[in-house]
Amino acid sequence: MISDYFELQWRLARRRSTCVGPHLDDFSTTLTDAGYLHFTIRGYLRAADHVGAWADRHRIALSTWDDELLVRFARHLTRCRCIKSNKGIFGDAIAGVRLLMARLRARGVIAGAQPSGRPLKEDRREAGRLPHSR
Ligand SMILES: [Zn+2]
Repeated sequence: MISDYFELQWRLARRRSTCVGPHLDDFSTTLTDAGYLHFTIRGYLRAADHVGAWADRHRIALSTWDDELLVRFARHLTRCRCIKSNKGIFGDAIAGVRLLMARLRARGVIAGAQPSGRPLKEDRREAGRLPHSR
């Protein structure tokens, strides 16, 4: 439950109001069961909230999400001004959104991944980094 990771009711309500909101409890439970650290899960849930709010603003229906959405969101992060409290720091946002999309695919909410060509810049940067789990 995302309420295990965030306490403020107004913030929980806002997080539940985006297109991914109905899936956040399942996503947080999946991350918890997989052994991710509390701090990491909070970051991934913030990323899920961020991409959901961004998709809503651009009227991108959740059912249409695909790998191109991830590319567009990564591009958005380079010039994001929608979350001032993060001060432009989104180090694990793409990893979080990638995990969210994997979970949404597993549940049949979005379509399966298409074979991709070039890896995202984030993928290349993260190659060789330790995973954010125990
Ligand atoms: Zn943003």
